Amino acid sequence: MPSFQPPLRVLMGPGPSDVHPRVLAAMARPTIGHLDPAFVAMMEEVKQLLRSAFRTRNQLTIPVSGPGSVGMETCFVNLVEPGDTVIVCQNGAFGGRMKENVERCVATPVMVIDDWGKGIDLDKVRDAIAANPGAKALAFVHAETSTGVRAEAEQLCKMARDAGILTIVDAVTSLGGIAIEVDGWGIDAIYSGSQKCLSCTPGLSPVSFSERATEVIKGRNRKVQSWFMDLNLVMSYWQGSGGGAPRSYHHTAPINALYGLHESLTMLQEEGIENAWARHRKHHEALRDGLEAMGLKMLVAEHERLPQLNSVVIPDGVEDAPVRKALLANYNLEVGAGLGALAGKVWRIGLMGTSSTPNHVTLCLAALEATLAAAGAKIRTGKALAAANKVLFAG
Ligand SMILES: *Cc1c(COP(=O)(O)O)cnc(C)c1O
Repeated sequence: MPSFQPPLRVLMGPGPSDVHPRVLAAMARPTIGHLDPAFVAMMEEVKQLLRSAFRTRNQLTIPVSGPGSVGMETCFVNLVEPGDTVIVCQNGAFGGRMKENVERCVATPVMVIDDWGKGIDLDKVRDAIAANPGAKALAFVHAETSTGVRAEAEQLCKMARDAGILTIVDAVTSLGGIAIEVDGWGIDAIYSGSQKCLSCTPGLSPVSFSERATEVIKGRNRKVQSWFMDLNLVMSYWQGSGGGAPRSYHHTAPINALYGLHESLTMLQEEGIENAWARHRKHHEALRDGLEAMGLKMLVAEHERLPQLNSVVIPDGVEDAPVRKALLANYNLEVGAGLGALAGKVWRIGLMGTSSTPNHVTLCLAALEATLAAAGAKIRTGKALAAANKVLFAG
């Protein structure tokens, strides 16, 4: 069996995004022990970098070992106990997974449901909070990658805060791509992923917990049912057991993956997080103008659209799969299919992290235009690149 040589793709789906060569190079550095003092010093830097990306001073800010789903589960299993009630907003695939998590904690989810492609209705959330005064938490997805919708996170957190309940926020696709203010908005528990706008390899999930949430975890009635995700145990490795006590082994950290995360967070810091948000916005606008110049339509209303995940409606008479297949075969370009209620109806074009550049926008527009024209779709040709260029290079 020869070594595996993956093809060189351009990743413009819902994640993973393109991983920068600097991150891949960092991951190829020598593996050292997970308690080596040099490694421990790097862990402290990763925590510091994550605090600055999340815009928080939260002590309990670490990358958990596992993909975004493990970050999600870490938040739920540590905060939710049997018998609790959690208000869960669902307007796409990932809100549904939050519901699953609540149920598996033997707690009761109170669902606030909105259509796929639409934002979370704040009035419905307000009503649910009023109707469930004993609720422990409000859980919602900040950037719903299955649809491309942004939640009004600041307002949602304010409502929860005013009612004295915790917030659990999915920021897997938002961190690094759009504004998040963990301290400014009063978020209690947040989880993200390494492979979306941070453009690291998949497999790590940054999480952060407020002082309030940390107290709730420490004061639990019963042990967290998951040994692996029990933060009381995980923290004995990530911060020692307090009073300068040495760190102890919990599980072997994914050493080289953490080098990669360190590098991607360093790159984010070098760019400046506000500049990263502005870059994601600009490239979204260029892609949008190009798609609209072709005559294609965006699924999500402008005011609640994510710049890093663009759901574009598949034009009438065009089949989904053959187009994506041709993009991959002819251009090495991966775009995402629709999920759930949107399967066959939209393509999801990611402009995340290292995949948010002028090159990605222009390749995608040119490749899509040629592929759709060849498929006989009724689109306007010869306009898209000029429209995108105006955004990308004007001034
Ligand atoms: C990708 C994603 C997840 C899951 O992350 P994995 O790394 O695939 O486990 C969770 N929530 C949202 C919003 C996502 O986009």
